[in-house]
Amino acid sequence: PYDGPRAEEIFRKRAEFLSPSLFHFYDRPLNIVDGKMQYLFDEDGRRYLDAFGGIATVCCGHCHPDVVEAIVKQAKRIQHSTVLYLNHAIADFAEALASKMPGDLKVVFFTNSGTEANELALMIARLYTGCNDIISLRNGYHGNAAGTMGATAQSNWKFNVVQTGVHHAVNPDPYRGAFGSDGEKYARDVQEIIEFGTTGRVAGFISEAIQGVGGIVELAPGYLPAAYDMVRKAGGLCIADEVQAGVARTGSHFWGFEGHGVIPDIVTMAKGIGNGIPIGAVVTTPEIAQVLTRRSYFNTFGGNPVSTAGGHAVLKVLEKEKLQENAYVVGSYLKERLNMLKEKHDIIGDVRGKGFLLGVELVTDREKKTPAKAEISHVMNHMKDMGVLVGKGGFYGNVFRVTPPLCFTKEDSDFFIEAMDISLSKL
Ligand code: PMP
Repeated sequence: PYDGPRAEEIFRKRAEFLSPSLFHFYDRPLNIVDGKMQYLFDEDGRRYLDAFGGIATVCCGHCHPDVVEAIVKQAKRIQHSTVLYLNHAIADFAEALASKMPGDLKVVFFTNSGTEANELALMIARLYTGCNDIISLRNGYHGNAAGTMGATAQSNWKFNVVQTGVHHAVNPDPYRGAFGSDGEKYARDVQEIIEFGTTGRVAGFISEAIQGVGGIVELAPGYLPAAYDMVRKAGGLCIADEVQAGVARTGSHFWGFEGHGVIPDIVTMAKGIGNGIPIGAVVTTPEIAQVLTRRSYFNTFGGNPVSTAGGHAVLKVLEKEKLQENAYVVGSYLKERLNMLKEKHDIIGDVRGKGFLLGVELVTDREKKTPAKAEISHVMNHMKDMGVLVGKGGFYGNVFRVTPPLCFTKEDSDFFIEAMDISLSKL
């Protein structure tokens, strides 16, 4: 049993000593003290089914024993040596990661977060091409440092950064976008940005395969192949931000971009690759990677033995427990059941996503697609009281983000649907 500080005390300290910008989802925030696979436990030992997985971060399951063992074992030997000496953990993980990549993508740079990975990717694209202009999608999220905040295109995540050379393309959003599911029509905007907003040459294009923070928006089919083509003709590199869509989460493929039939020039990742450990990575081709030899690129903690030993263990668990297959099979079942809920509850305007990267958009009017912001909070709080945790997001904050650990079962899905059904009925 847990006998540490209680929620009230932590809340008081947080209010006094932590960032005033921190937010929480629930009327009464939970004090989570333990995690085990798809479950979280609060201070009273109450169990919650976790359908958010720390924002699509926990892939193998909370505190998966194999991952914990790998971290502890490594921490007891050597925690920090960095790149100045040899250590097998970083090399083994890089090799394993490269083996999961298509094409010539095989050189790995380790970072500590998704933001850092994307910052590095943008810099590599600019160095390689000698150009500065970057195209990113409206509603995309790429990080919170100067460059990535510029590439992020949602006002709620942007402070007054200088947006040097970033252009935001029309989002190929099948639900709210003007061209429905016609990906090629949206891609014309990329061509127009190149023609009217740049010299005709660009450094690159960055996009998620399914927008996570943006509310699980699946890019309209055909969009990415068309956009990649245009960007490459303008000399640019294509960057896939796989921070949420990568690492087996979409089920059908290991990487989200594979679901769109494209091969990027640079892939970035974080979150799931560490199952909760801070680690990020950039993977590119040997030729492109060469640009970083022009200066020294150094990152104190990037690729440290503890994080890379943990990341390597994650890949092994995914394989051993066939978690990609589980994400596909159970995720498809869950989506089917969510679609059945949509038939029953008018407030559900859209159900979308793949595998365990699913979104449920709540609207008060299906025609006008009016965001049901207050309602979603009620449902979330009610589901929490029933022992089910789910995320929310989207520009209007009205989309449920269903991104459980990949070990989520069919029975968990049934329980989740039951809780959502009852909570929606109570509205
Ligand atoms: N890219 C995407 C798609 C993300 O969802 C996030 C985090 N929400 C990031 C980048 C930034 O990652 P981090 O918070 O680790 O810096």
